[in-house]
Amino acid sequence: MSHDVDRLVARMREAGLKATPQRLAIVRELADDPTHPTAQELYDRLRSAMPTMSFATVYNTLSAFADAGLVTPRSLTAGGTRFDPNTEPHDHAVCDRCGDVVDISPADEGPASIPSGFKLRAVERIYRGVCERCVD
Ligand SMILES: [Zn+2]
Ligand SMILES: [Zn+2]
Repeated sequence: MSHDVDRLVARMREAGLKATPQRLAIVRELADDPTHPTAQELYDRLRSAMPTMSFATVYNTLSAFADAGLVTPRSLTAGGTRFDPNTEPHDHAVCDRCGDVVDISPADEGPASIPSGFKLRAVERIYRGVCERCVD
């Protein structure tokens, strides 16, 4: 999805982050992976192509992206924080077995009850179960 890459690169520049080859590689990998990879997964995938890149660089880049609002850090699985480039409010389906994550459009119904005075920004649900590939 090159459109997503273009959008992320534009937002990266707006945030004053230089488009270095390492940052661009991370942006591309994030945009191409609907499962919102963790820092470790990104590092494992990119280090053969970019042997000079350290895990700290990947982690710090993702933190800078999160601070700039390019990605949302999410705790969806036990395997670590995942980084979500889809900044629109949306729900997730998460597989209990393989940990795969899929973005889904939010359901239309509002929240059952929210504390009074709480200013609602978004409703995001996690649907947990077993994905098509893992189902017996
Ligand atoms: Zn699965
Ligand atoms: Zn998502």
